[in-house]
Amino acid sequence: MKPASFEYVRPRDVTEALSVLKKGADRARVIAGGQSLGPMLNFRVARPQLLVDIATLAELRAIEQREGKVRIGAAVTHAEIEDGALAIPQSRFFSAVARGIAYRAVRNRGTLGGSLAHADPHADWPMILALVGGSIVIAGSEGQKTVPADRFATGAFSTVLTPGEIVFAVEIPAIAPKCRLGVFKLCRKIGEFPHASAGVLLDRDSNMSRVFLSALADGPRRLPDLERVLLEAGREGASIAQITRAVADAAPELDLVDRQLFANCLAQAQLRAFQQ
Ligand SMILES: Cc1cc2nc3c(=O)[nH]c(=O)nc-3n(C[C@H](O)[C@H](O)[C@H](O)COP(=O)(O)OP(=O)(O)OC[C@H]3O[C@@H](n4cnc5c(N)ncnc54)[C@H](O)[C@@H]3O)c2cc1C
Repeated sequence: MKPASFEYVRPRDVTEALSVLKKGADRARVIAGGQSLGPMLNFRVARPQLLVDIATLAELRAIEQREGKVRIGAAVTHAEIEDGALAIPQSRFFSAVARGIAYRAVRNRGTLGGSLAHADPHADWPMILALVGGSIVIAGSEGQKTVPADRFATGAFSTVLTPGEIVFAVEIPAIAPKCRLGVFKLCRKIGEFPHASAGVLLDRDSNMSRVFLSALADGPRRLPDLERVLLEAGREGASIAQITRAVADAAPELDLVDRQLFANCLAQAQLRAFQQ
């Protein structure tokens, strides 16, 4: 199918983009990489009358270090992260995450901000940013505000963004060099969205852990009980029985097979974190 007709504008900067979005109200929609919106237009699931293309805006393409955090513009692509654009000690970790998204052709265009705003519960970045304690910088006509990554999505395909607001950037706090990070996702086919996914962060020096499951119906879900287990456990980490119980408690809607798949993902994520 072909999309319904629409007008297209490419604003000069974010201020102009926000002003066009405000004037366009419900008729207008932002487009970045077009990797999710493109098919939605073609299938006429989305029928905006005006597309505001923000993919090339310089303010959204910047990556900078600020007060110990790295700030990544919303229009930075998965491919750029894959190619090592984040000059931080954990750059290889983020590069590997980006490399696991879809195919290179999708990664060349798909953006960090687009992925977050689209809020597909199977997407990779929402869980990764929640795992590392990241936050999302939102820009609107009233100015900017920052929301913790784990509070940005409000459910499947829904976020705290209000009409006329855009994702401006993502901030990742400094991650201690000894902090252990591991993620694992299970895809039925290479390049597809994951069927199950999990992430583990363990920072023994500051006695802090985060554990998430993702690719559930409503997006990333935190497992605080397992985080406590991990902090108390020794080098062997949580046992498979503890992991399976934690998955059953956190996601009671899963059937036995899926519970085992998610538990296996989590066990693999823990192994990767411990092997670092
Ligand atoms: C075959 C295929 C496989 C994929 N596999 C994966 C995968 O395994 N893991 C994964 O995480 N993703 C996957 N994706 C999705 C991909 O990561 C897209 O990049 C992402 O979903 C959307 O990014 P985009 O820049 O293309 O956004 P667009 O398609 O341009 O926009 C998507 C939505 O976000 C809005 N939007 C875009 N940018 C902003 C912004 N800055 N502020 C506010 N709203 C904005 C748009 O209005 C639209 O509603 C896959 C996509 C394809 C086509």
